[in-house]
Amino acid sequence: MKALVYEGAWQMPMRDVPIPEPGTDQVQVKVETVGVCGSDVHGFKGTTGRRKPPIIMGHEFSGTITAAGAEVKNFLVGDRVVVTPLLTCGYCDNCRAGFPNICQNRSGLGVNLNGAYADYVSVSQKMVFPLPGEMSWEQGALVEPLAVAMHAVNLTPMQLMDTVVIIGAGTIGLLTILAAKMKGAGKIIVSDVSAHRLDFAKRLGADVVVNPAKEDAIDAVKQQTNGKGAPAVIEAVGITATTKQSLFMARNGGNVVWIGNSDPEITINMQQIVTRELTVRGTYGFNDEFGLSIEAIRTQRIDPTGLIEKRAALADGSGIINDLAKGNADWIKVMLKP
Ligand SMILES: [Zn+2]
Ligand SMILES: [Zn+2]
Repeated sequence: MKALVYEGAWQMPMRDVPIPEPGTDQVQVKVETVGVCGSDVHGFKGTTGRRKPPIIMGHEFSGTITAAGAEVKNFLVGDRVVVTPLLTCGYCDNCRAGFPNICQNRSGLGVNLNGAYADYVSVSQKMVFPLPGEMSWEQGALVEPLAVAMHAVNLTPMQLMDTVVIIGAGTIGLLTILAAKMKGAGKIIVSDVSAHRLDFAKRLGADVVVNPAKEDAIDAVKQQTNGKGAPAVIEAVGITATTKQSLFMARNGGNVVWIGNSDPEITINMQQIVTRELTVRGTYGFNDEFGLSIEAIRTQRIDPTGLIEKRAALADGSGIINDLAKGNADWIKVMLKP
């Protein structure tokens, strides 16, 4: 089969590799559509350190089951499915407590297990969900990023009509707008340096957009909140500049939630957290939100397909990710078809 193999920083050629045969508890999935995630683009540059070559990336996908191991119970060849990329052990303290996203023995498809930038991928049956008949392949491939946004919003303490700041209008930031609206957010302020992304944010329901390349983003948030700052700030970039902003944009005693995960080390003003009693927390992946994300899309409460700006063959994936990494292109969501 064909697969894009990440072989080192800035190198991800299409290779011929063996089709992965399913283990006894695995299904083999023919990939129908796979989304390009911002984390893959960062991983491609080789700076985040989370993806060790050689690895096939790709963790946002839908497909058809083409083979199943002997112990597979609930799926049949031919089933349309969507796959969560988080493989968890099921027996550690966190799994048992209902937080498999922070499983102590966690692995990630497309991060340290071969993923879906390929014709086929084999995954544990634990990771597979039926794709409802009324959902498209593309909607299936958007379940994962929507689940990430829904999880972050679930972990953000928020009252009805609270002002929410979302820093970063990439796929996750934009989907966070939709999830925050579902949770009853009031004014939604979105900050990003790309005018193109801010246009999307407006279309999806942001009340105020702020471009830190053109204005002081912290001042802008203060102006929108009677000088106080916002009760909830969600950071979806993960670099020093924006994590710093996230603290200054929160009101005293406010909640700051970080989803962004780009730079391993950042510098922040610690006194902002201590002397203004901010609560800062990280969020990673999702738990029940994966199933809820399927349900939100199936019932048309959320339609994330508007984020798709480019569709291409898997063979073009390497060039596309190269363009995104170099900043030559600014497509919100790219879908690849093997
Ligand atoms: Zn992702
Ligand atoms: Zn576990």
